[in-house]
Amino acid sequence: MSIVTDSPVWRPFTQHALQPGAFKIARAEGAWLEAEDGARFLDAISSWWVITHGHRHPAIMQAIREETERLDQIIFAGFTHEPAEALARRLVALTPPGLDYVFYSDSGSTCVEVAIKMALGFWRNRGEARTRIVALEHGYHGDTIGTMSVGARSPFNAPYEPLLYEVSRIPFPSRGREQETLDALERACRDRPAALLVEPLILGAGGMLFYGADTLAEMQRICAQYGVLFIADEVMTGFGRTGTLFASEQTGVVPDIACYAKGLTGGALPLAVTMCKREIFEAHLSPERARAFFHSSSYTANPIACAAALANLDVWATGEPAARVAALCDMQATRLARFATDARFSNVRQLGIIAALDLNIVQGGYLATIALDLMRFFNARGLLMRPLGPTIYVFPPYCVEAAELDLVYDAISEAADCFG
Ligand code: PLP
Repeated sequence: MSIVTDSPVWRPFTQHALQPGAFKIARAEGAWLEAEDGARFLDAISSWWVITHGHRHPAIMQAIREETERLDQIIFAGFTHEPAEALARRLVALTPPGLDYVFYSDSGSTCVEVAIKMALGFWRNRGEARTRIVALEHGYHGDTIGTMSVGARSPFNAPYEPLLYEVSRIPFPSRGREQETLDALERACRDRPAALLVEPLILGAGGMLFYGADTLAEMQRICAQYGVLFIADEVMTGFGRTGTLFASEQTGVVPDIACYAKGLTGGALPLAVTMCKREIFEAHLSPERARAFFHSSSYTANPIACAAALANLDVWATGEPAARVAALCDMQATRLARFATDARFSNVRQLGIIAALDLNIVQGGYLATIALDLMRFFNARGLLMRPLGPTIYVFPPYCVEAAELDLVYDAISEAADCFG
């Protein structure tokens, strides 16, 4: 097996003392990764939720090649280019109506940071001192100081605690307890916060926790009632994951600010956008320079990434991904059904193409190292999986075939025999 151990590379979210090696991948195609020595891994988590259609989608690769013949990186203050202009127009047409402006950045964390800054800038420019963000318990929005602050506090961000700002945290709307969340939101709104920031319908890194569109719609209604901005972090849910192109479509209510990244380029290149309603853009319009929106990164609106995103939208326009998403939802449901009454698992659940189930761990068993143990178990069977603690989830690219999914579910059953 091609495993790199002696390397200067410091990898993300990795305890190198426990996990000194990494598989060296040489090629990716469709739902598969191939290591240098030919070992293959089925990418059952879409390479950290970024790949939508499959690895190296031909139309997206072609668009990238073509764009490199014209443009590389261009400064984006005072200058623009057609890939960014065309993509912004397409996104405005595609996303829920009312999201009329597009701010480019390059990662999920950054587009959420931008959203938070937009919300605070909006209120400041309107002469109101509103700086507090309301966020859901168990949320995850990224790993920068700003996005860690709004996310759940955990050992992952404990060292930075003194730098994290305070937020108003409301309980996760678990089934039967939705009213507690709504009541807590209403109380928080009375204190005139700047915005509510949520992952719509699914808290991803928080453990693949699902909640209903009705509750989300109600949260938006309360925000509108109290004049609190509603920010939808669709970094994970965007581009088909929940069964619709965007999760917020399912509520029929348009967020004031929405964040998209990962699947925006089909996962091929880093690109993100923060989209907002006209009033948020216009609050930053003024003869006074100090009211401008002061945010940039060197790679804002990289033309090659924009071209990849345009090609991705063309792929969606064919209707084929929507059909594949629908088929994948059914394939997941059929396979998950066999675990619904399996005593080795609890909380067997599915939303859109995402399936998740919690492995019941034997008391005093593996809890501390379960995620790592399970990951190794799956890797040894040629599967790229990264359980969240005892929560195993299946989040494949849309090109995955039924027989490939069977490999995943057979391995999940086998894992329960070993660890359950
Ligand atoms: N927001 C959500 C909901 C996410 O799931 C993630 C990453 O998984 C992020 C933000 C951060 O995105 P990135 O890793 O691209 O910074």
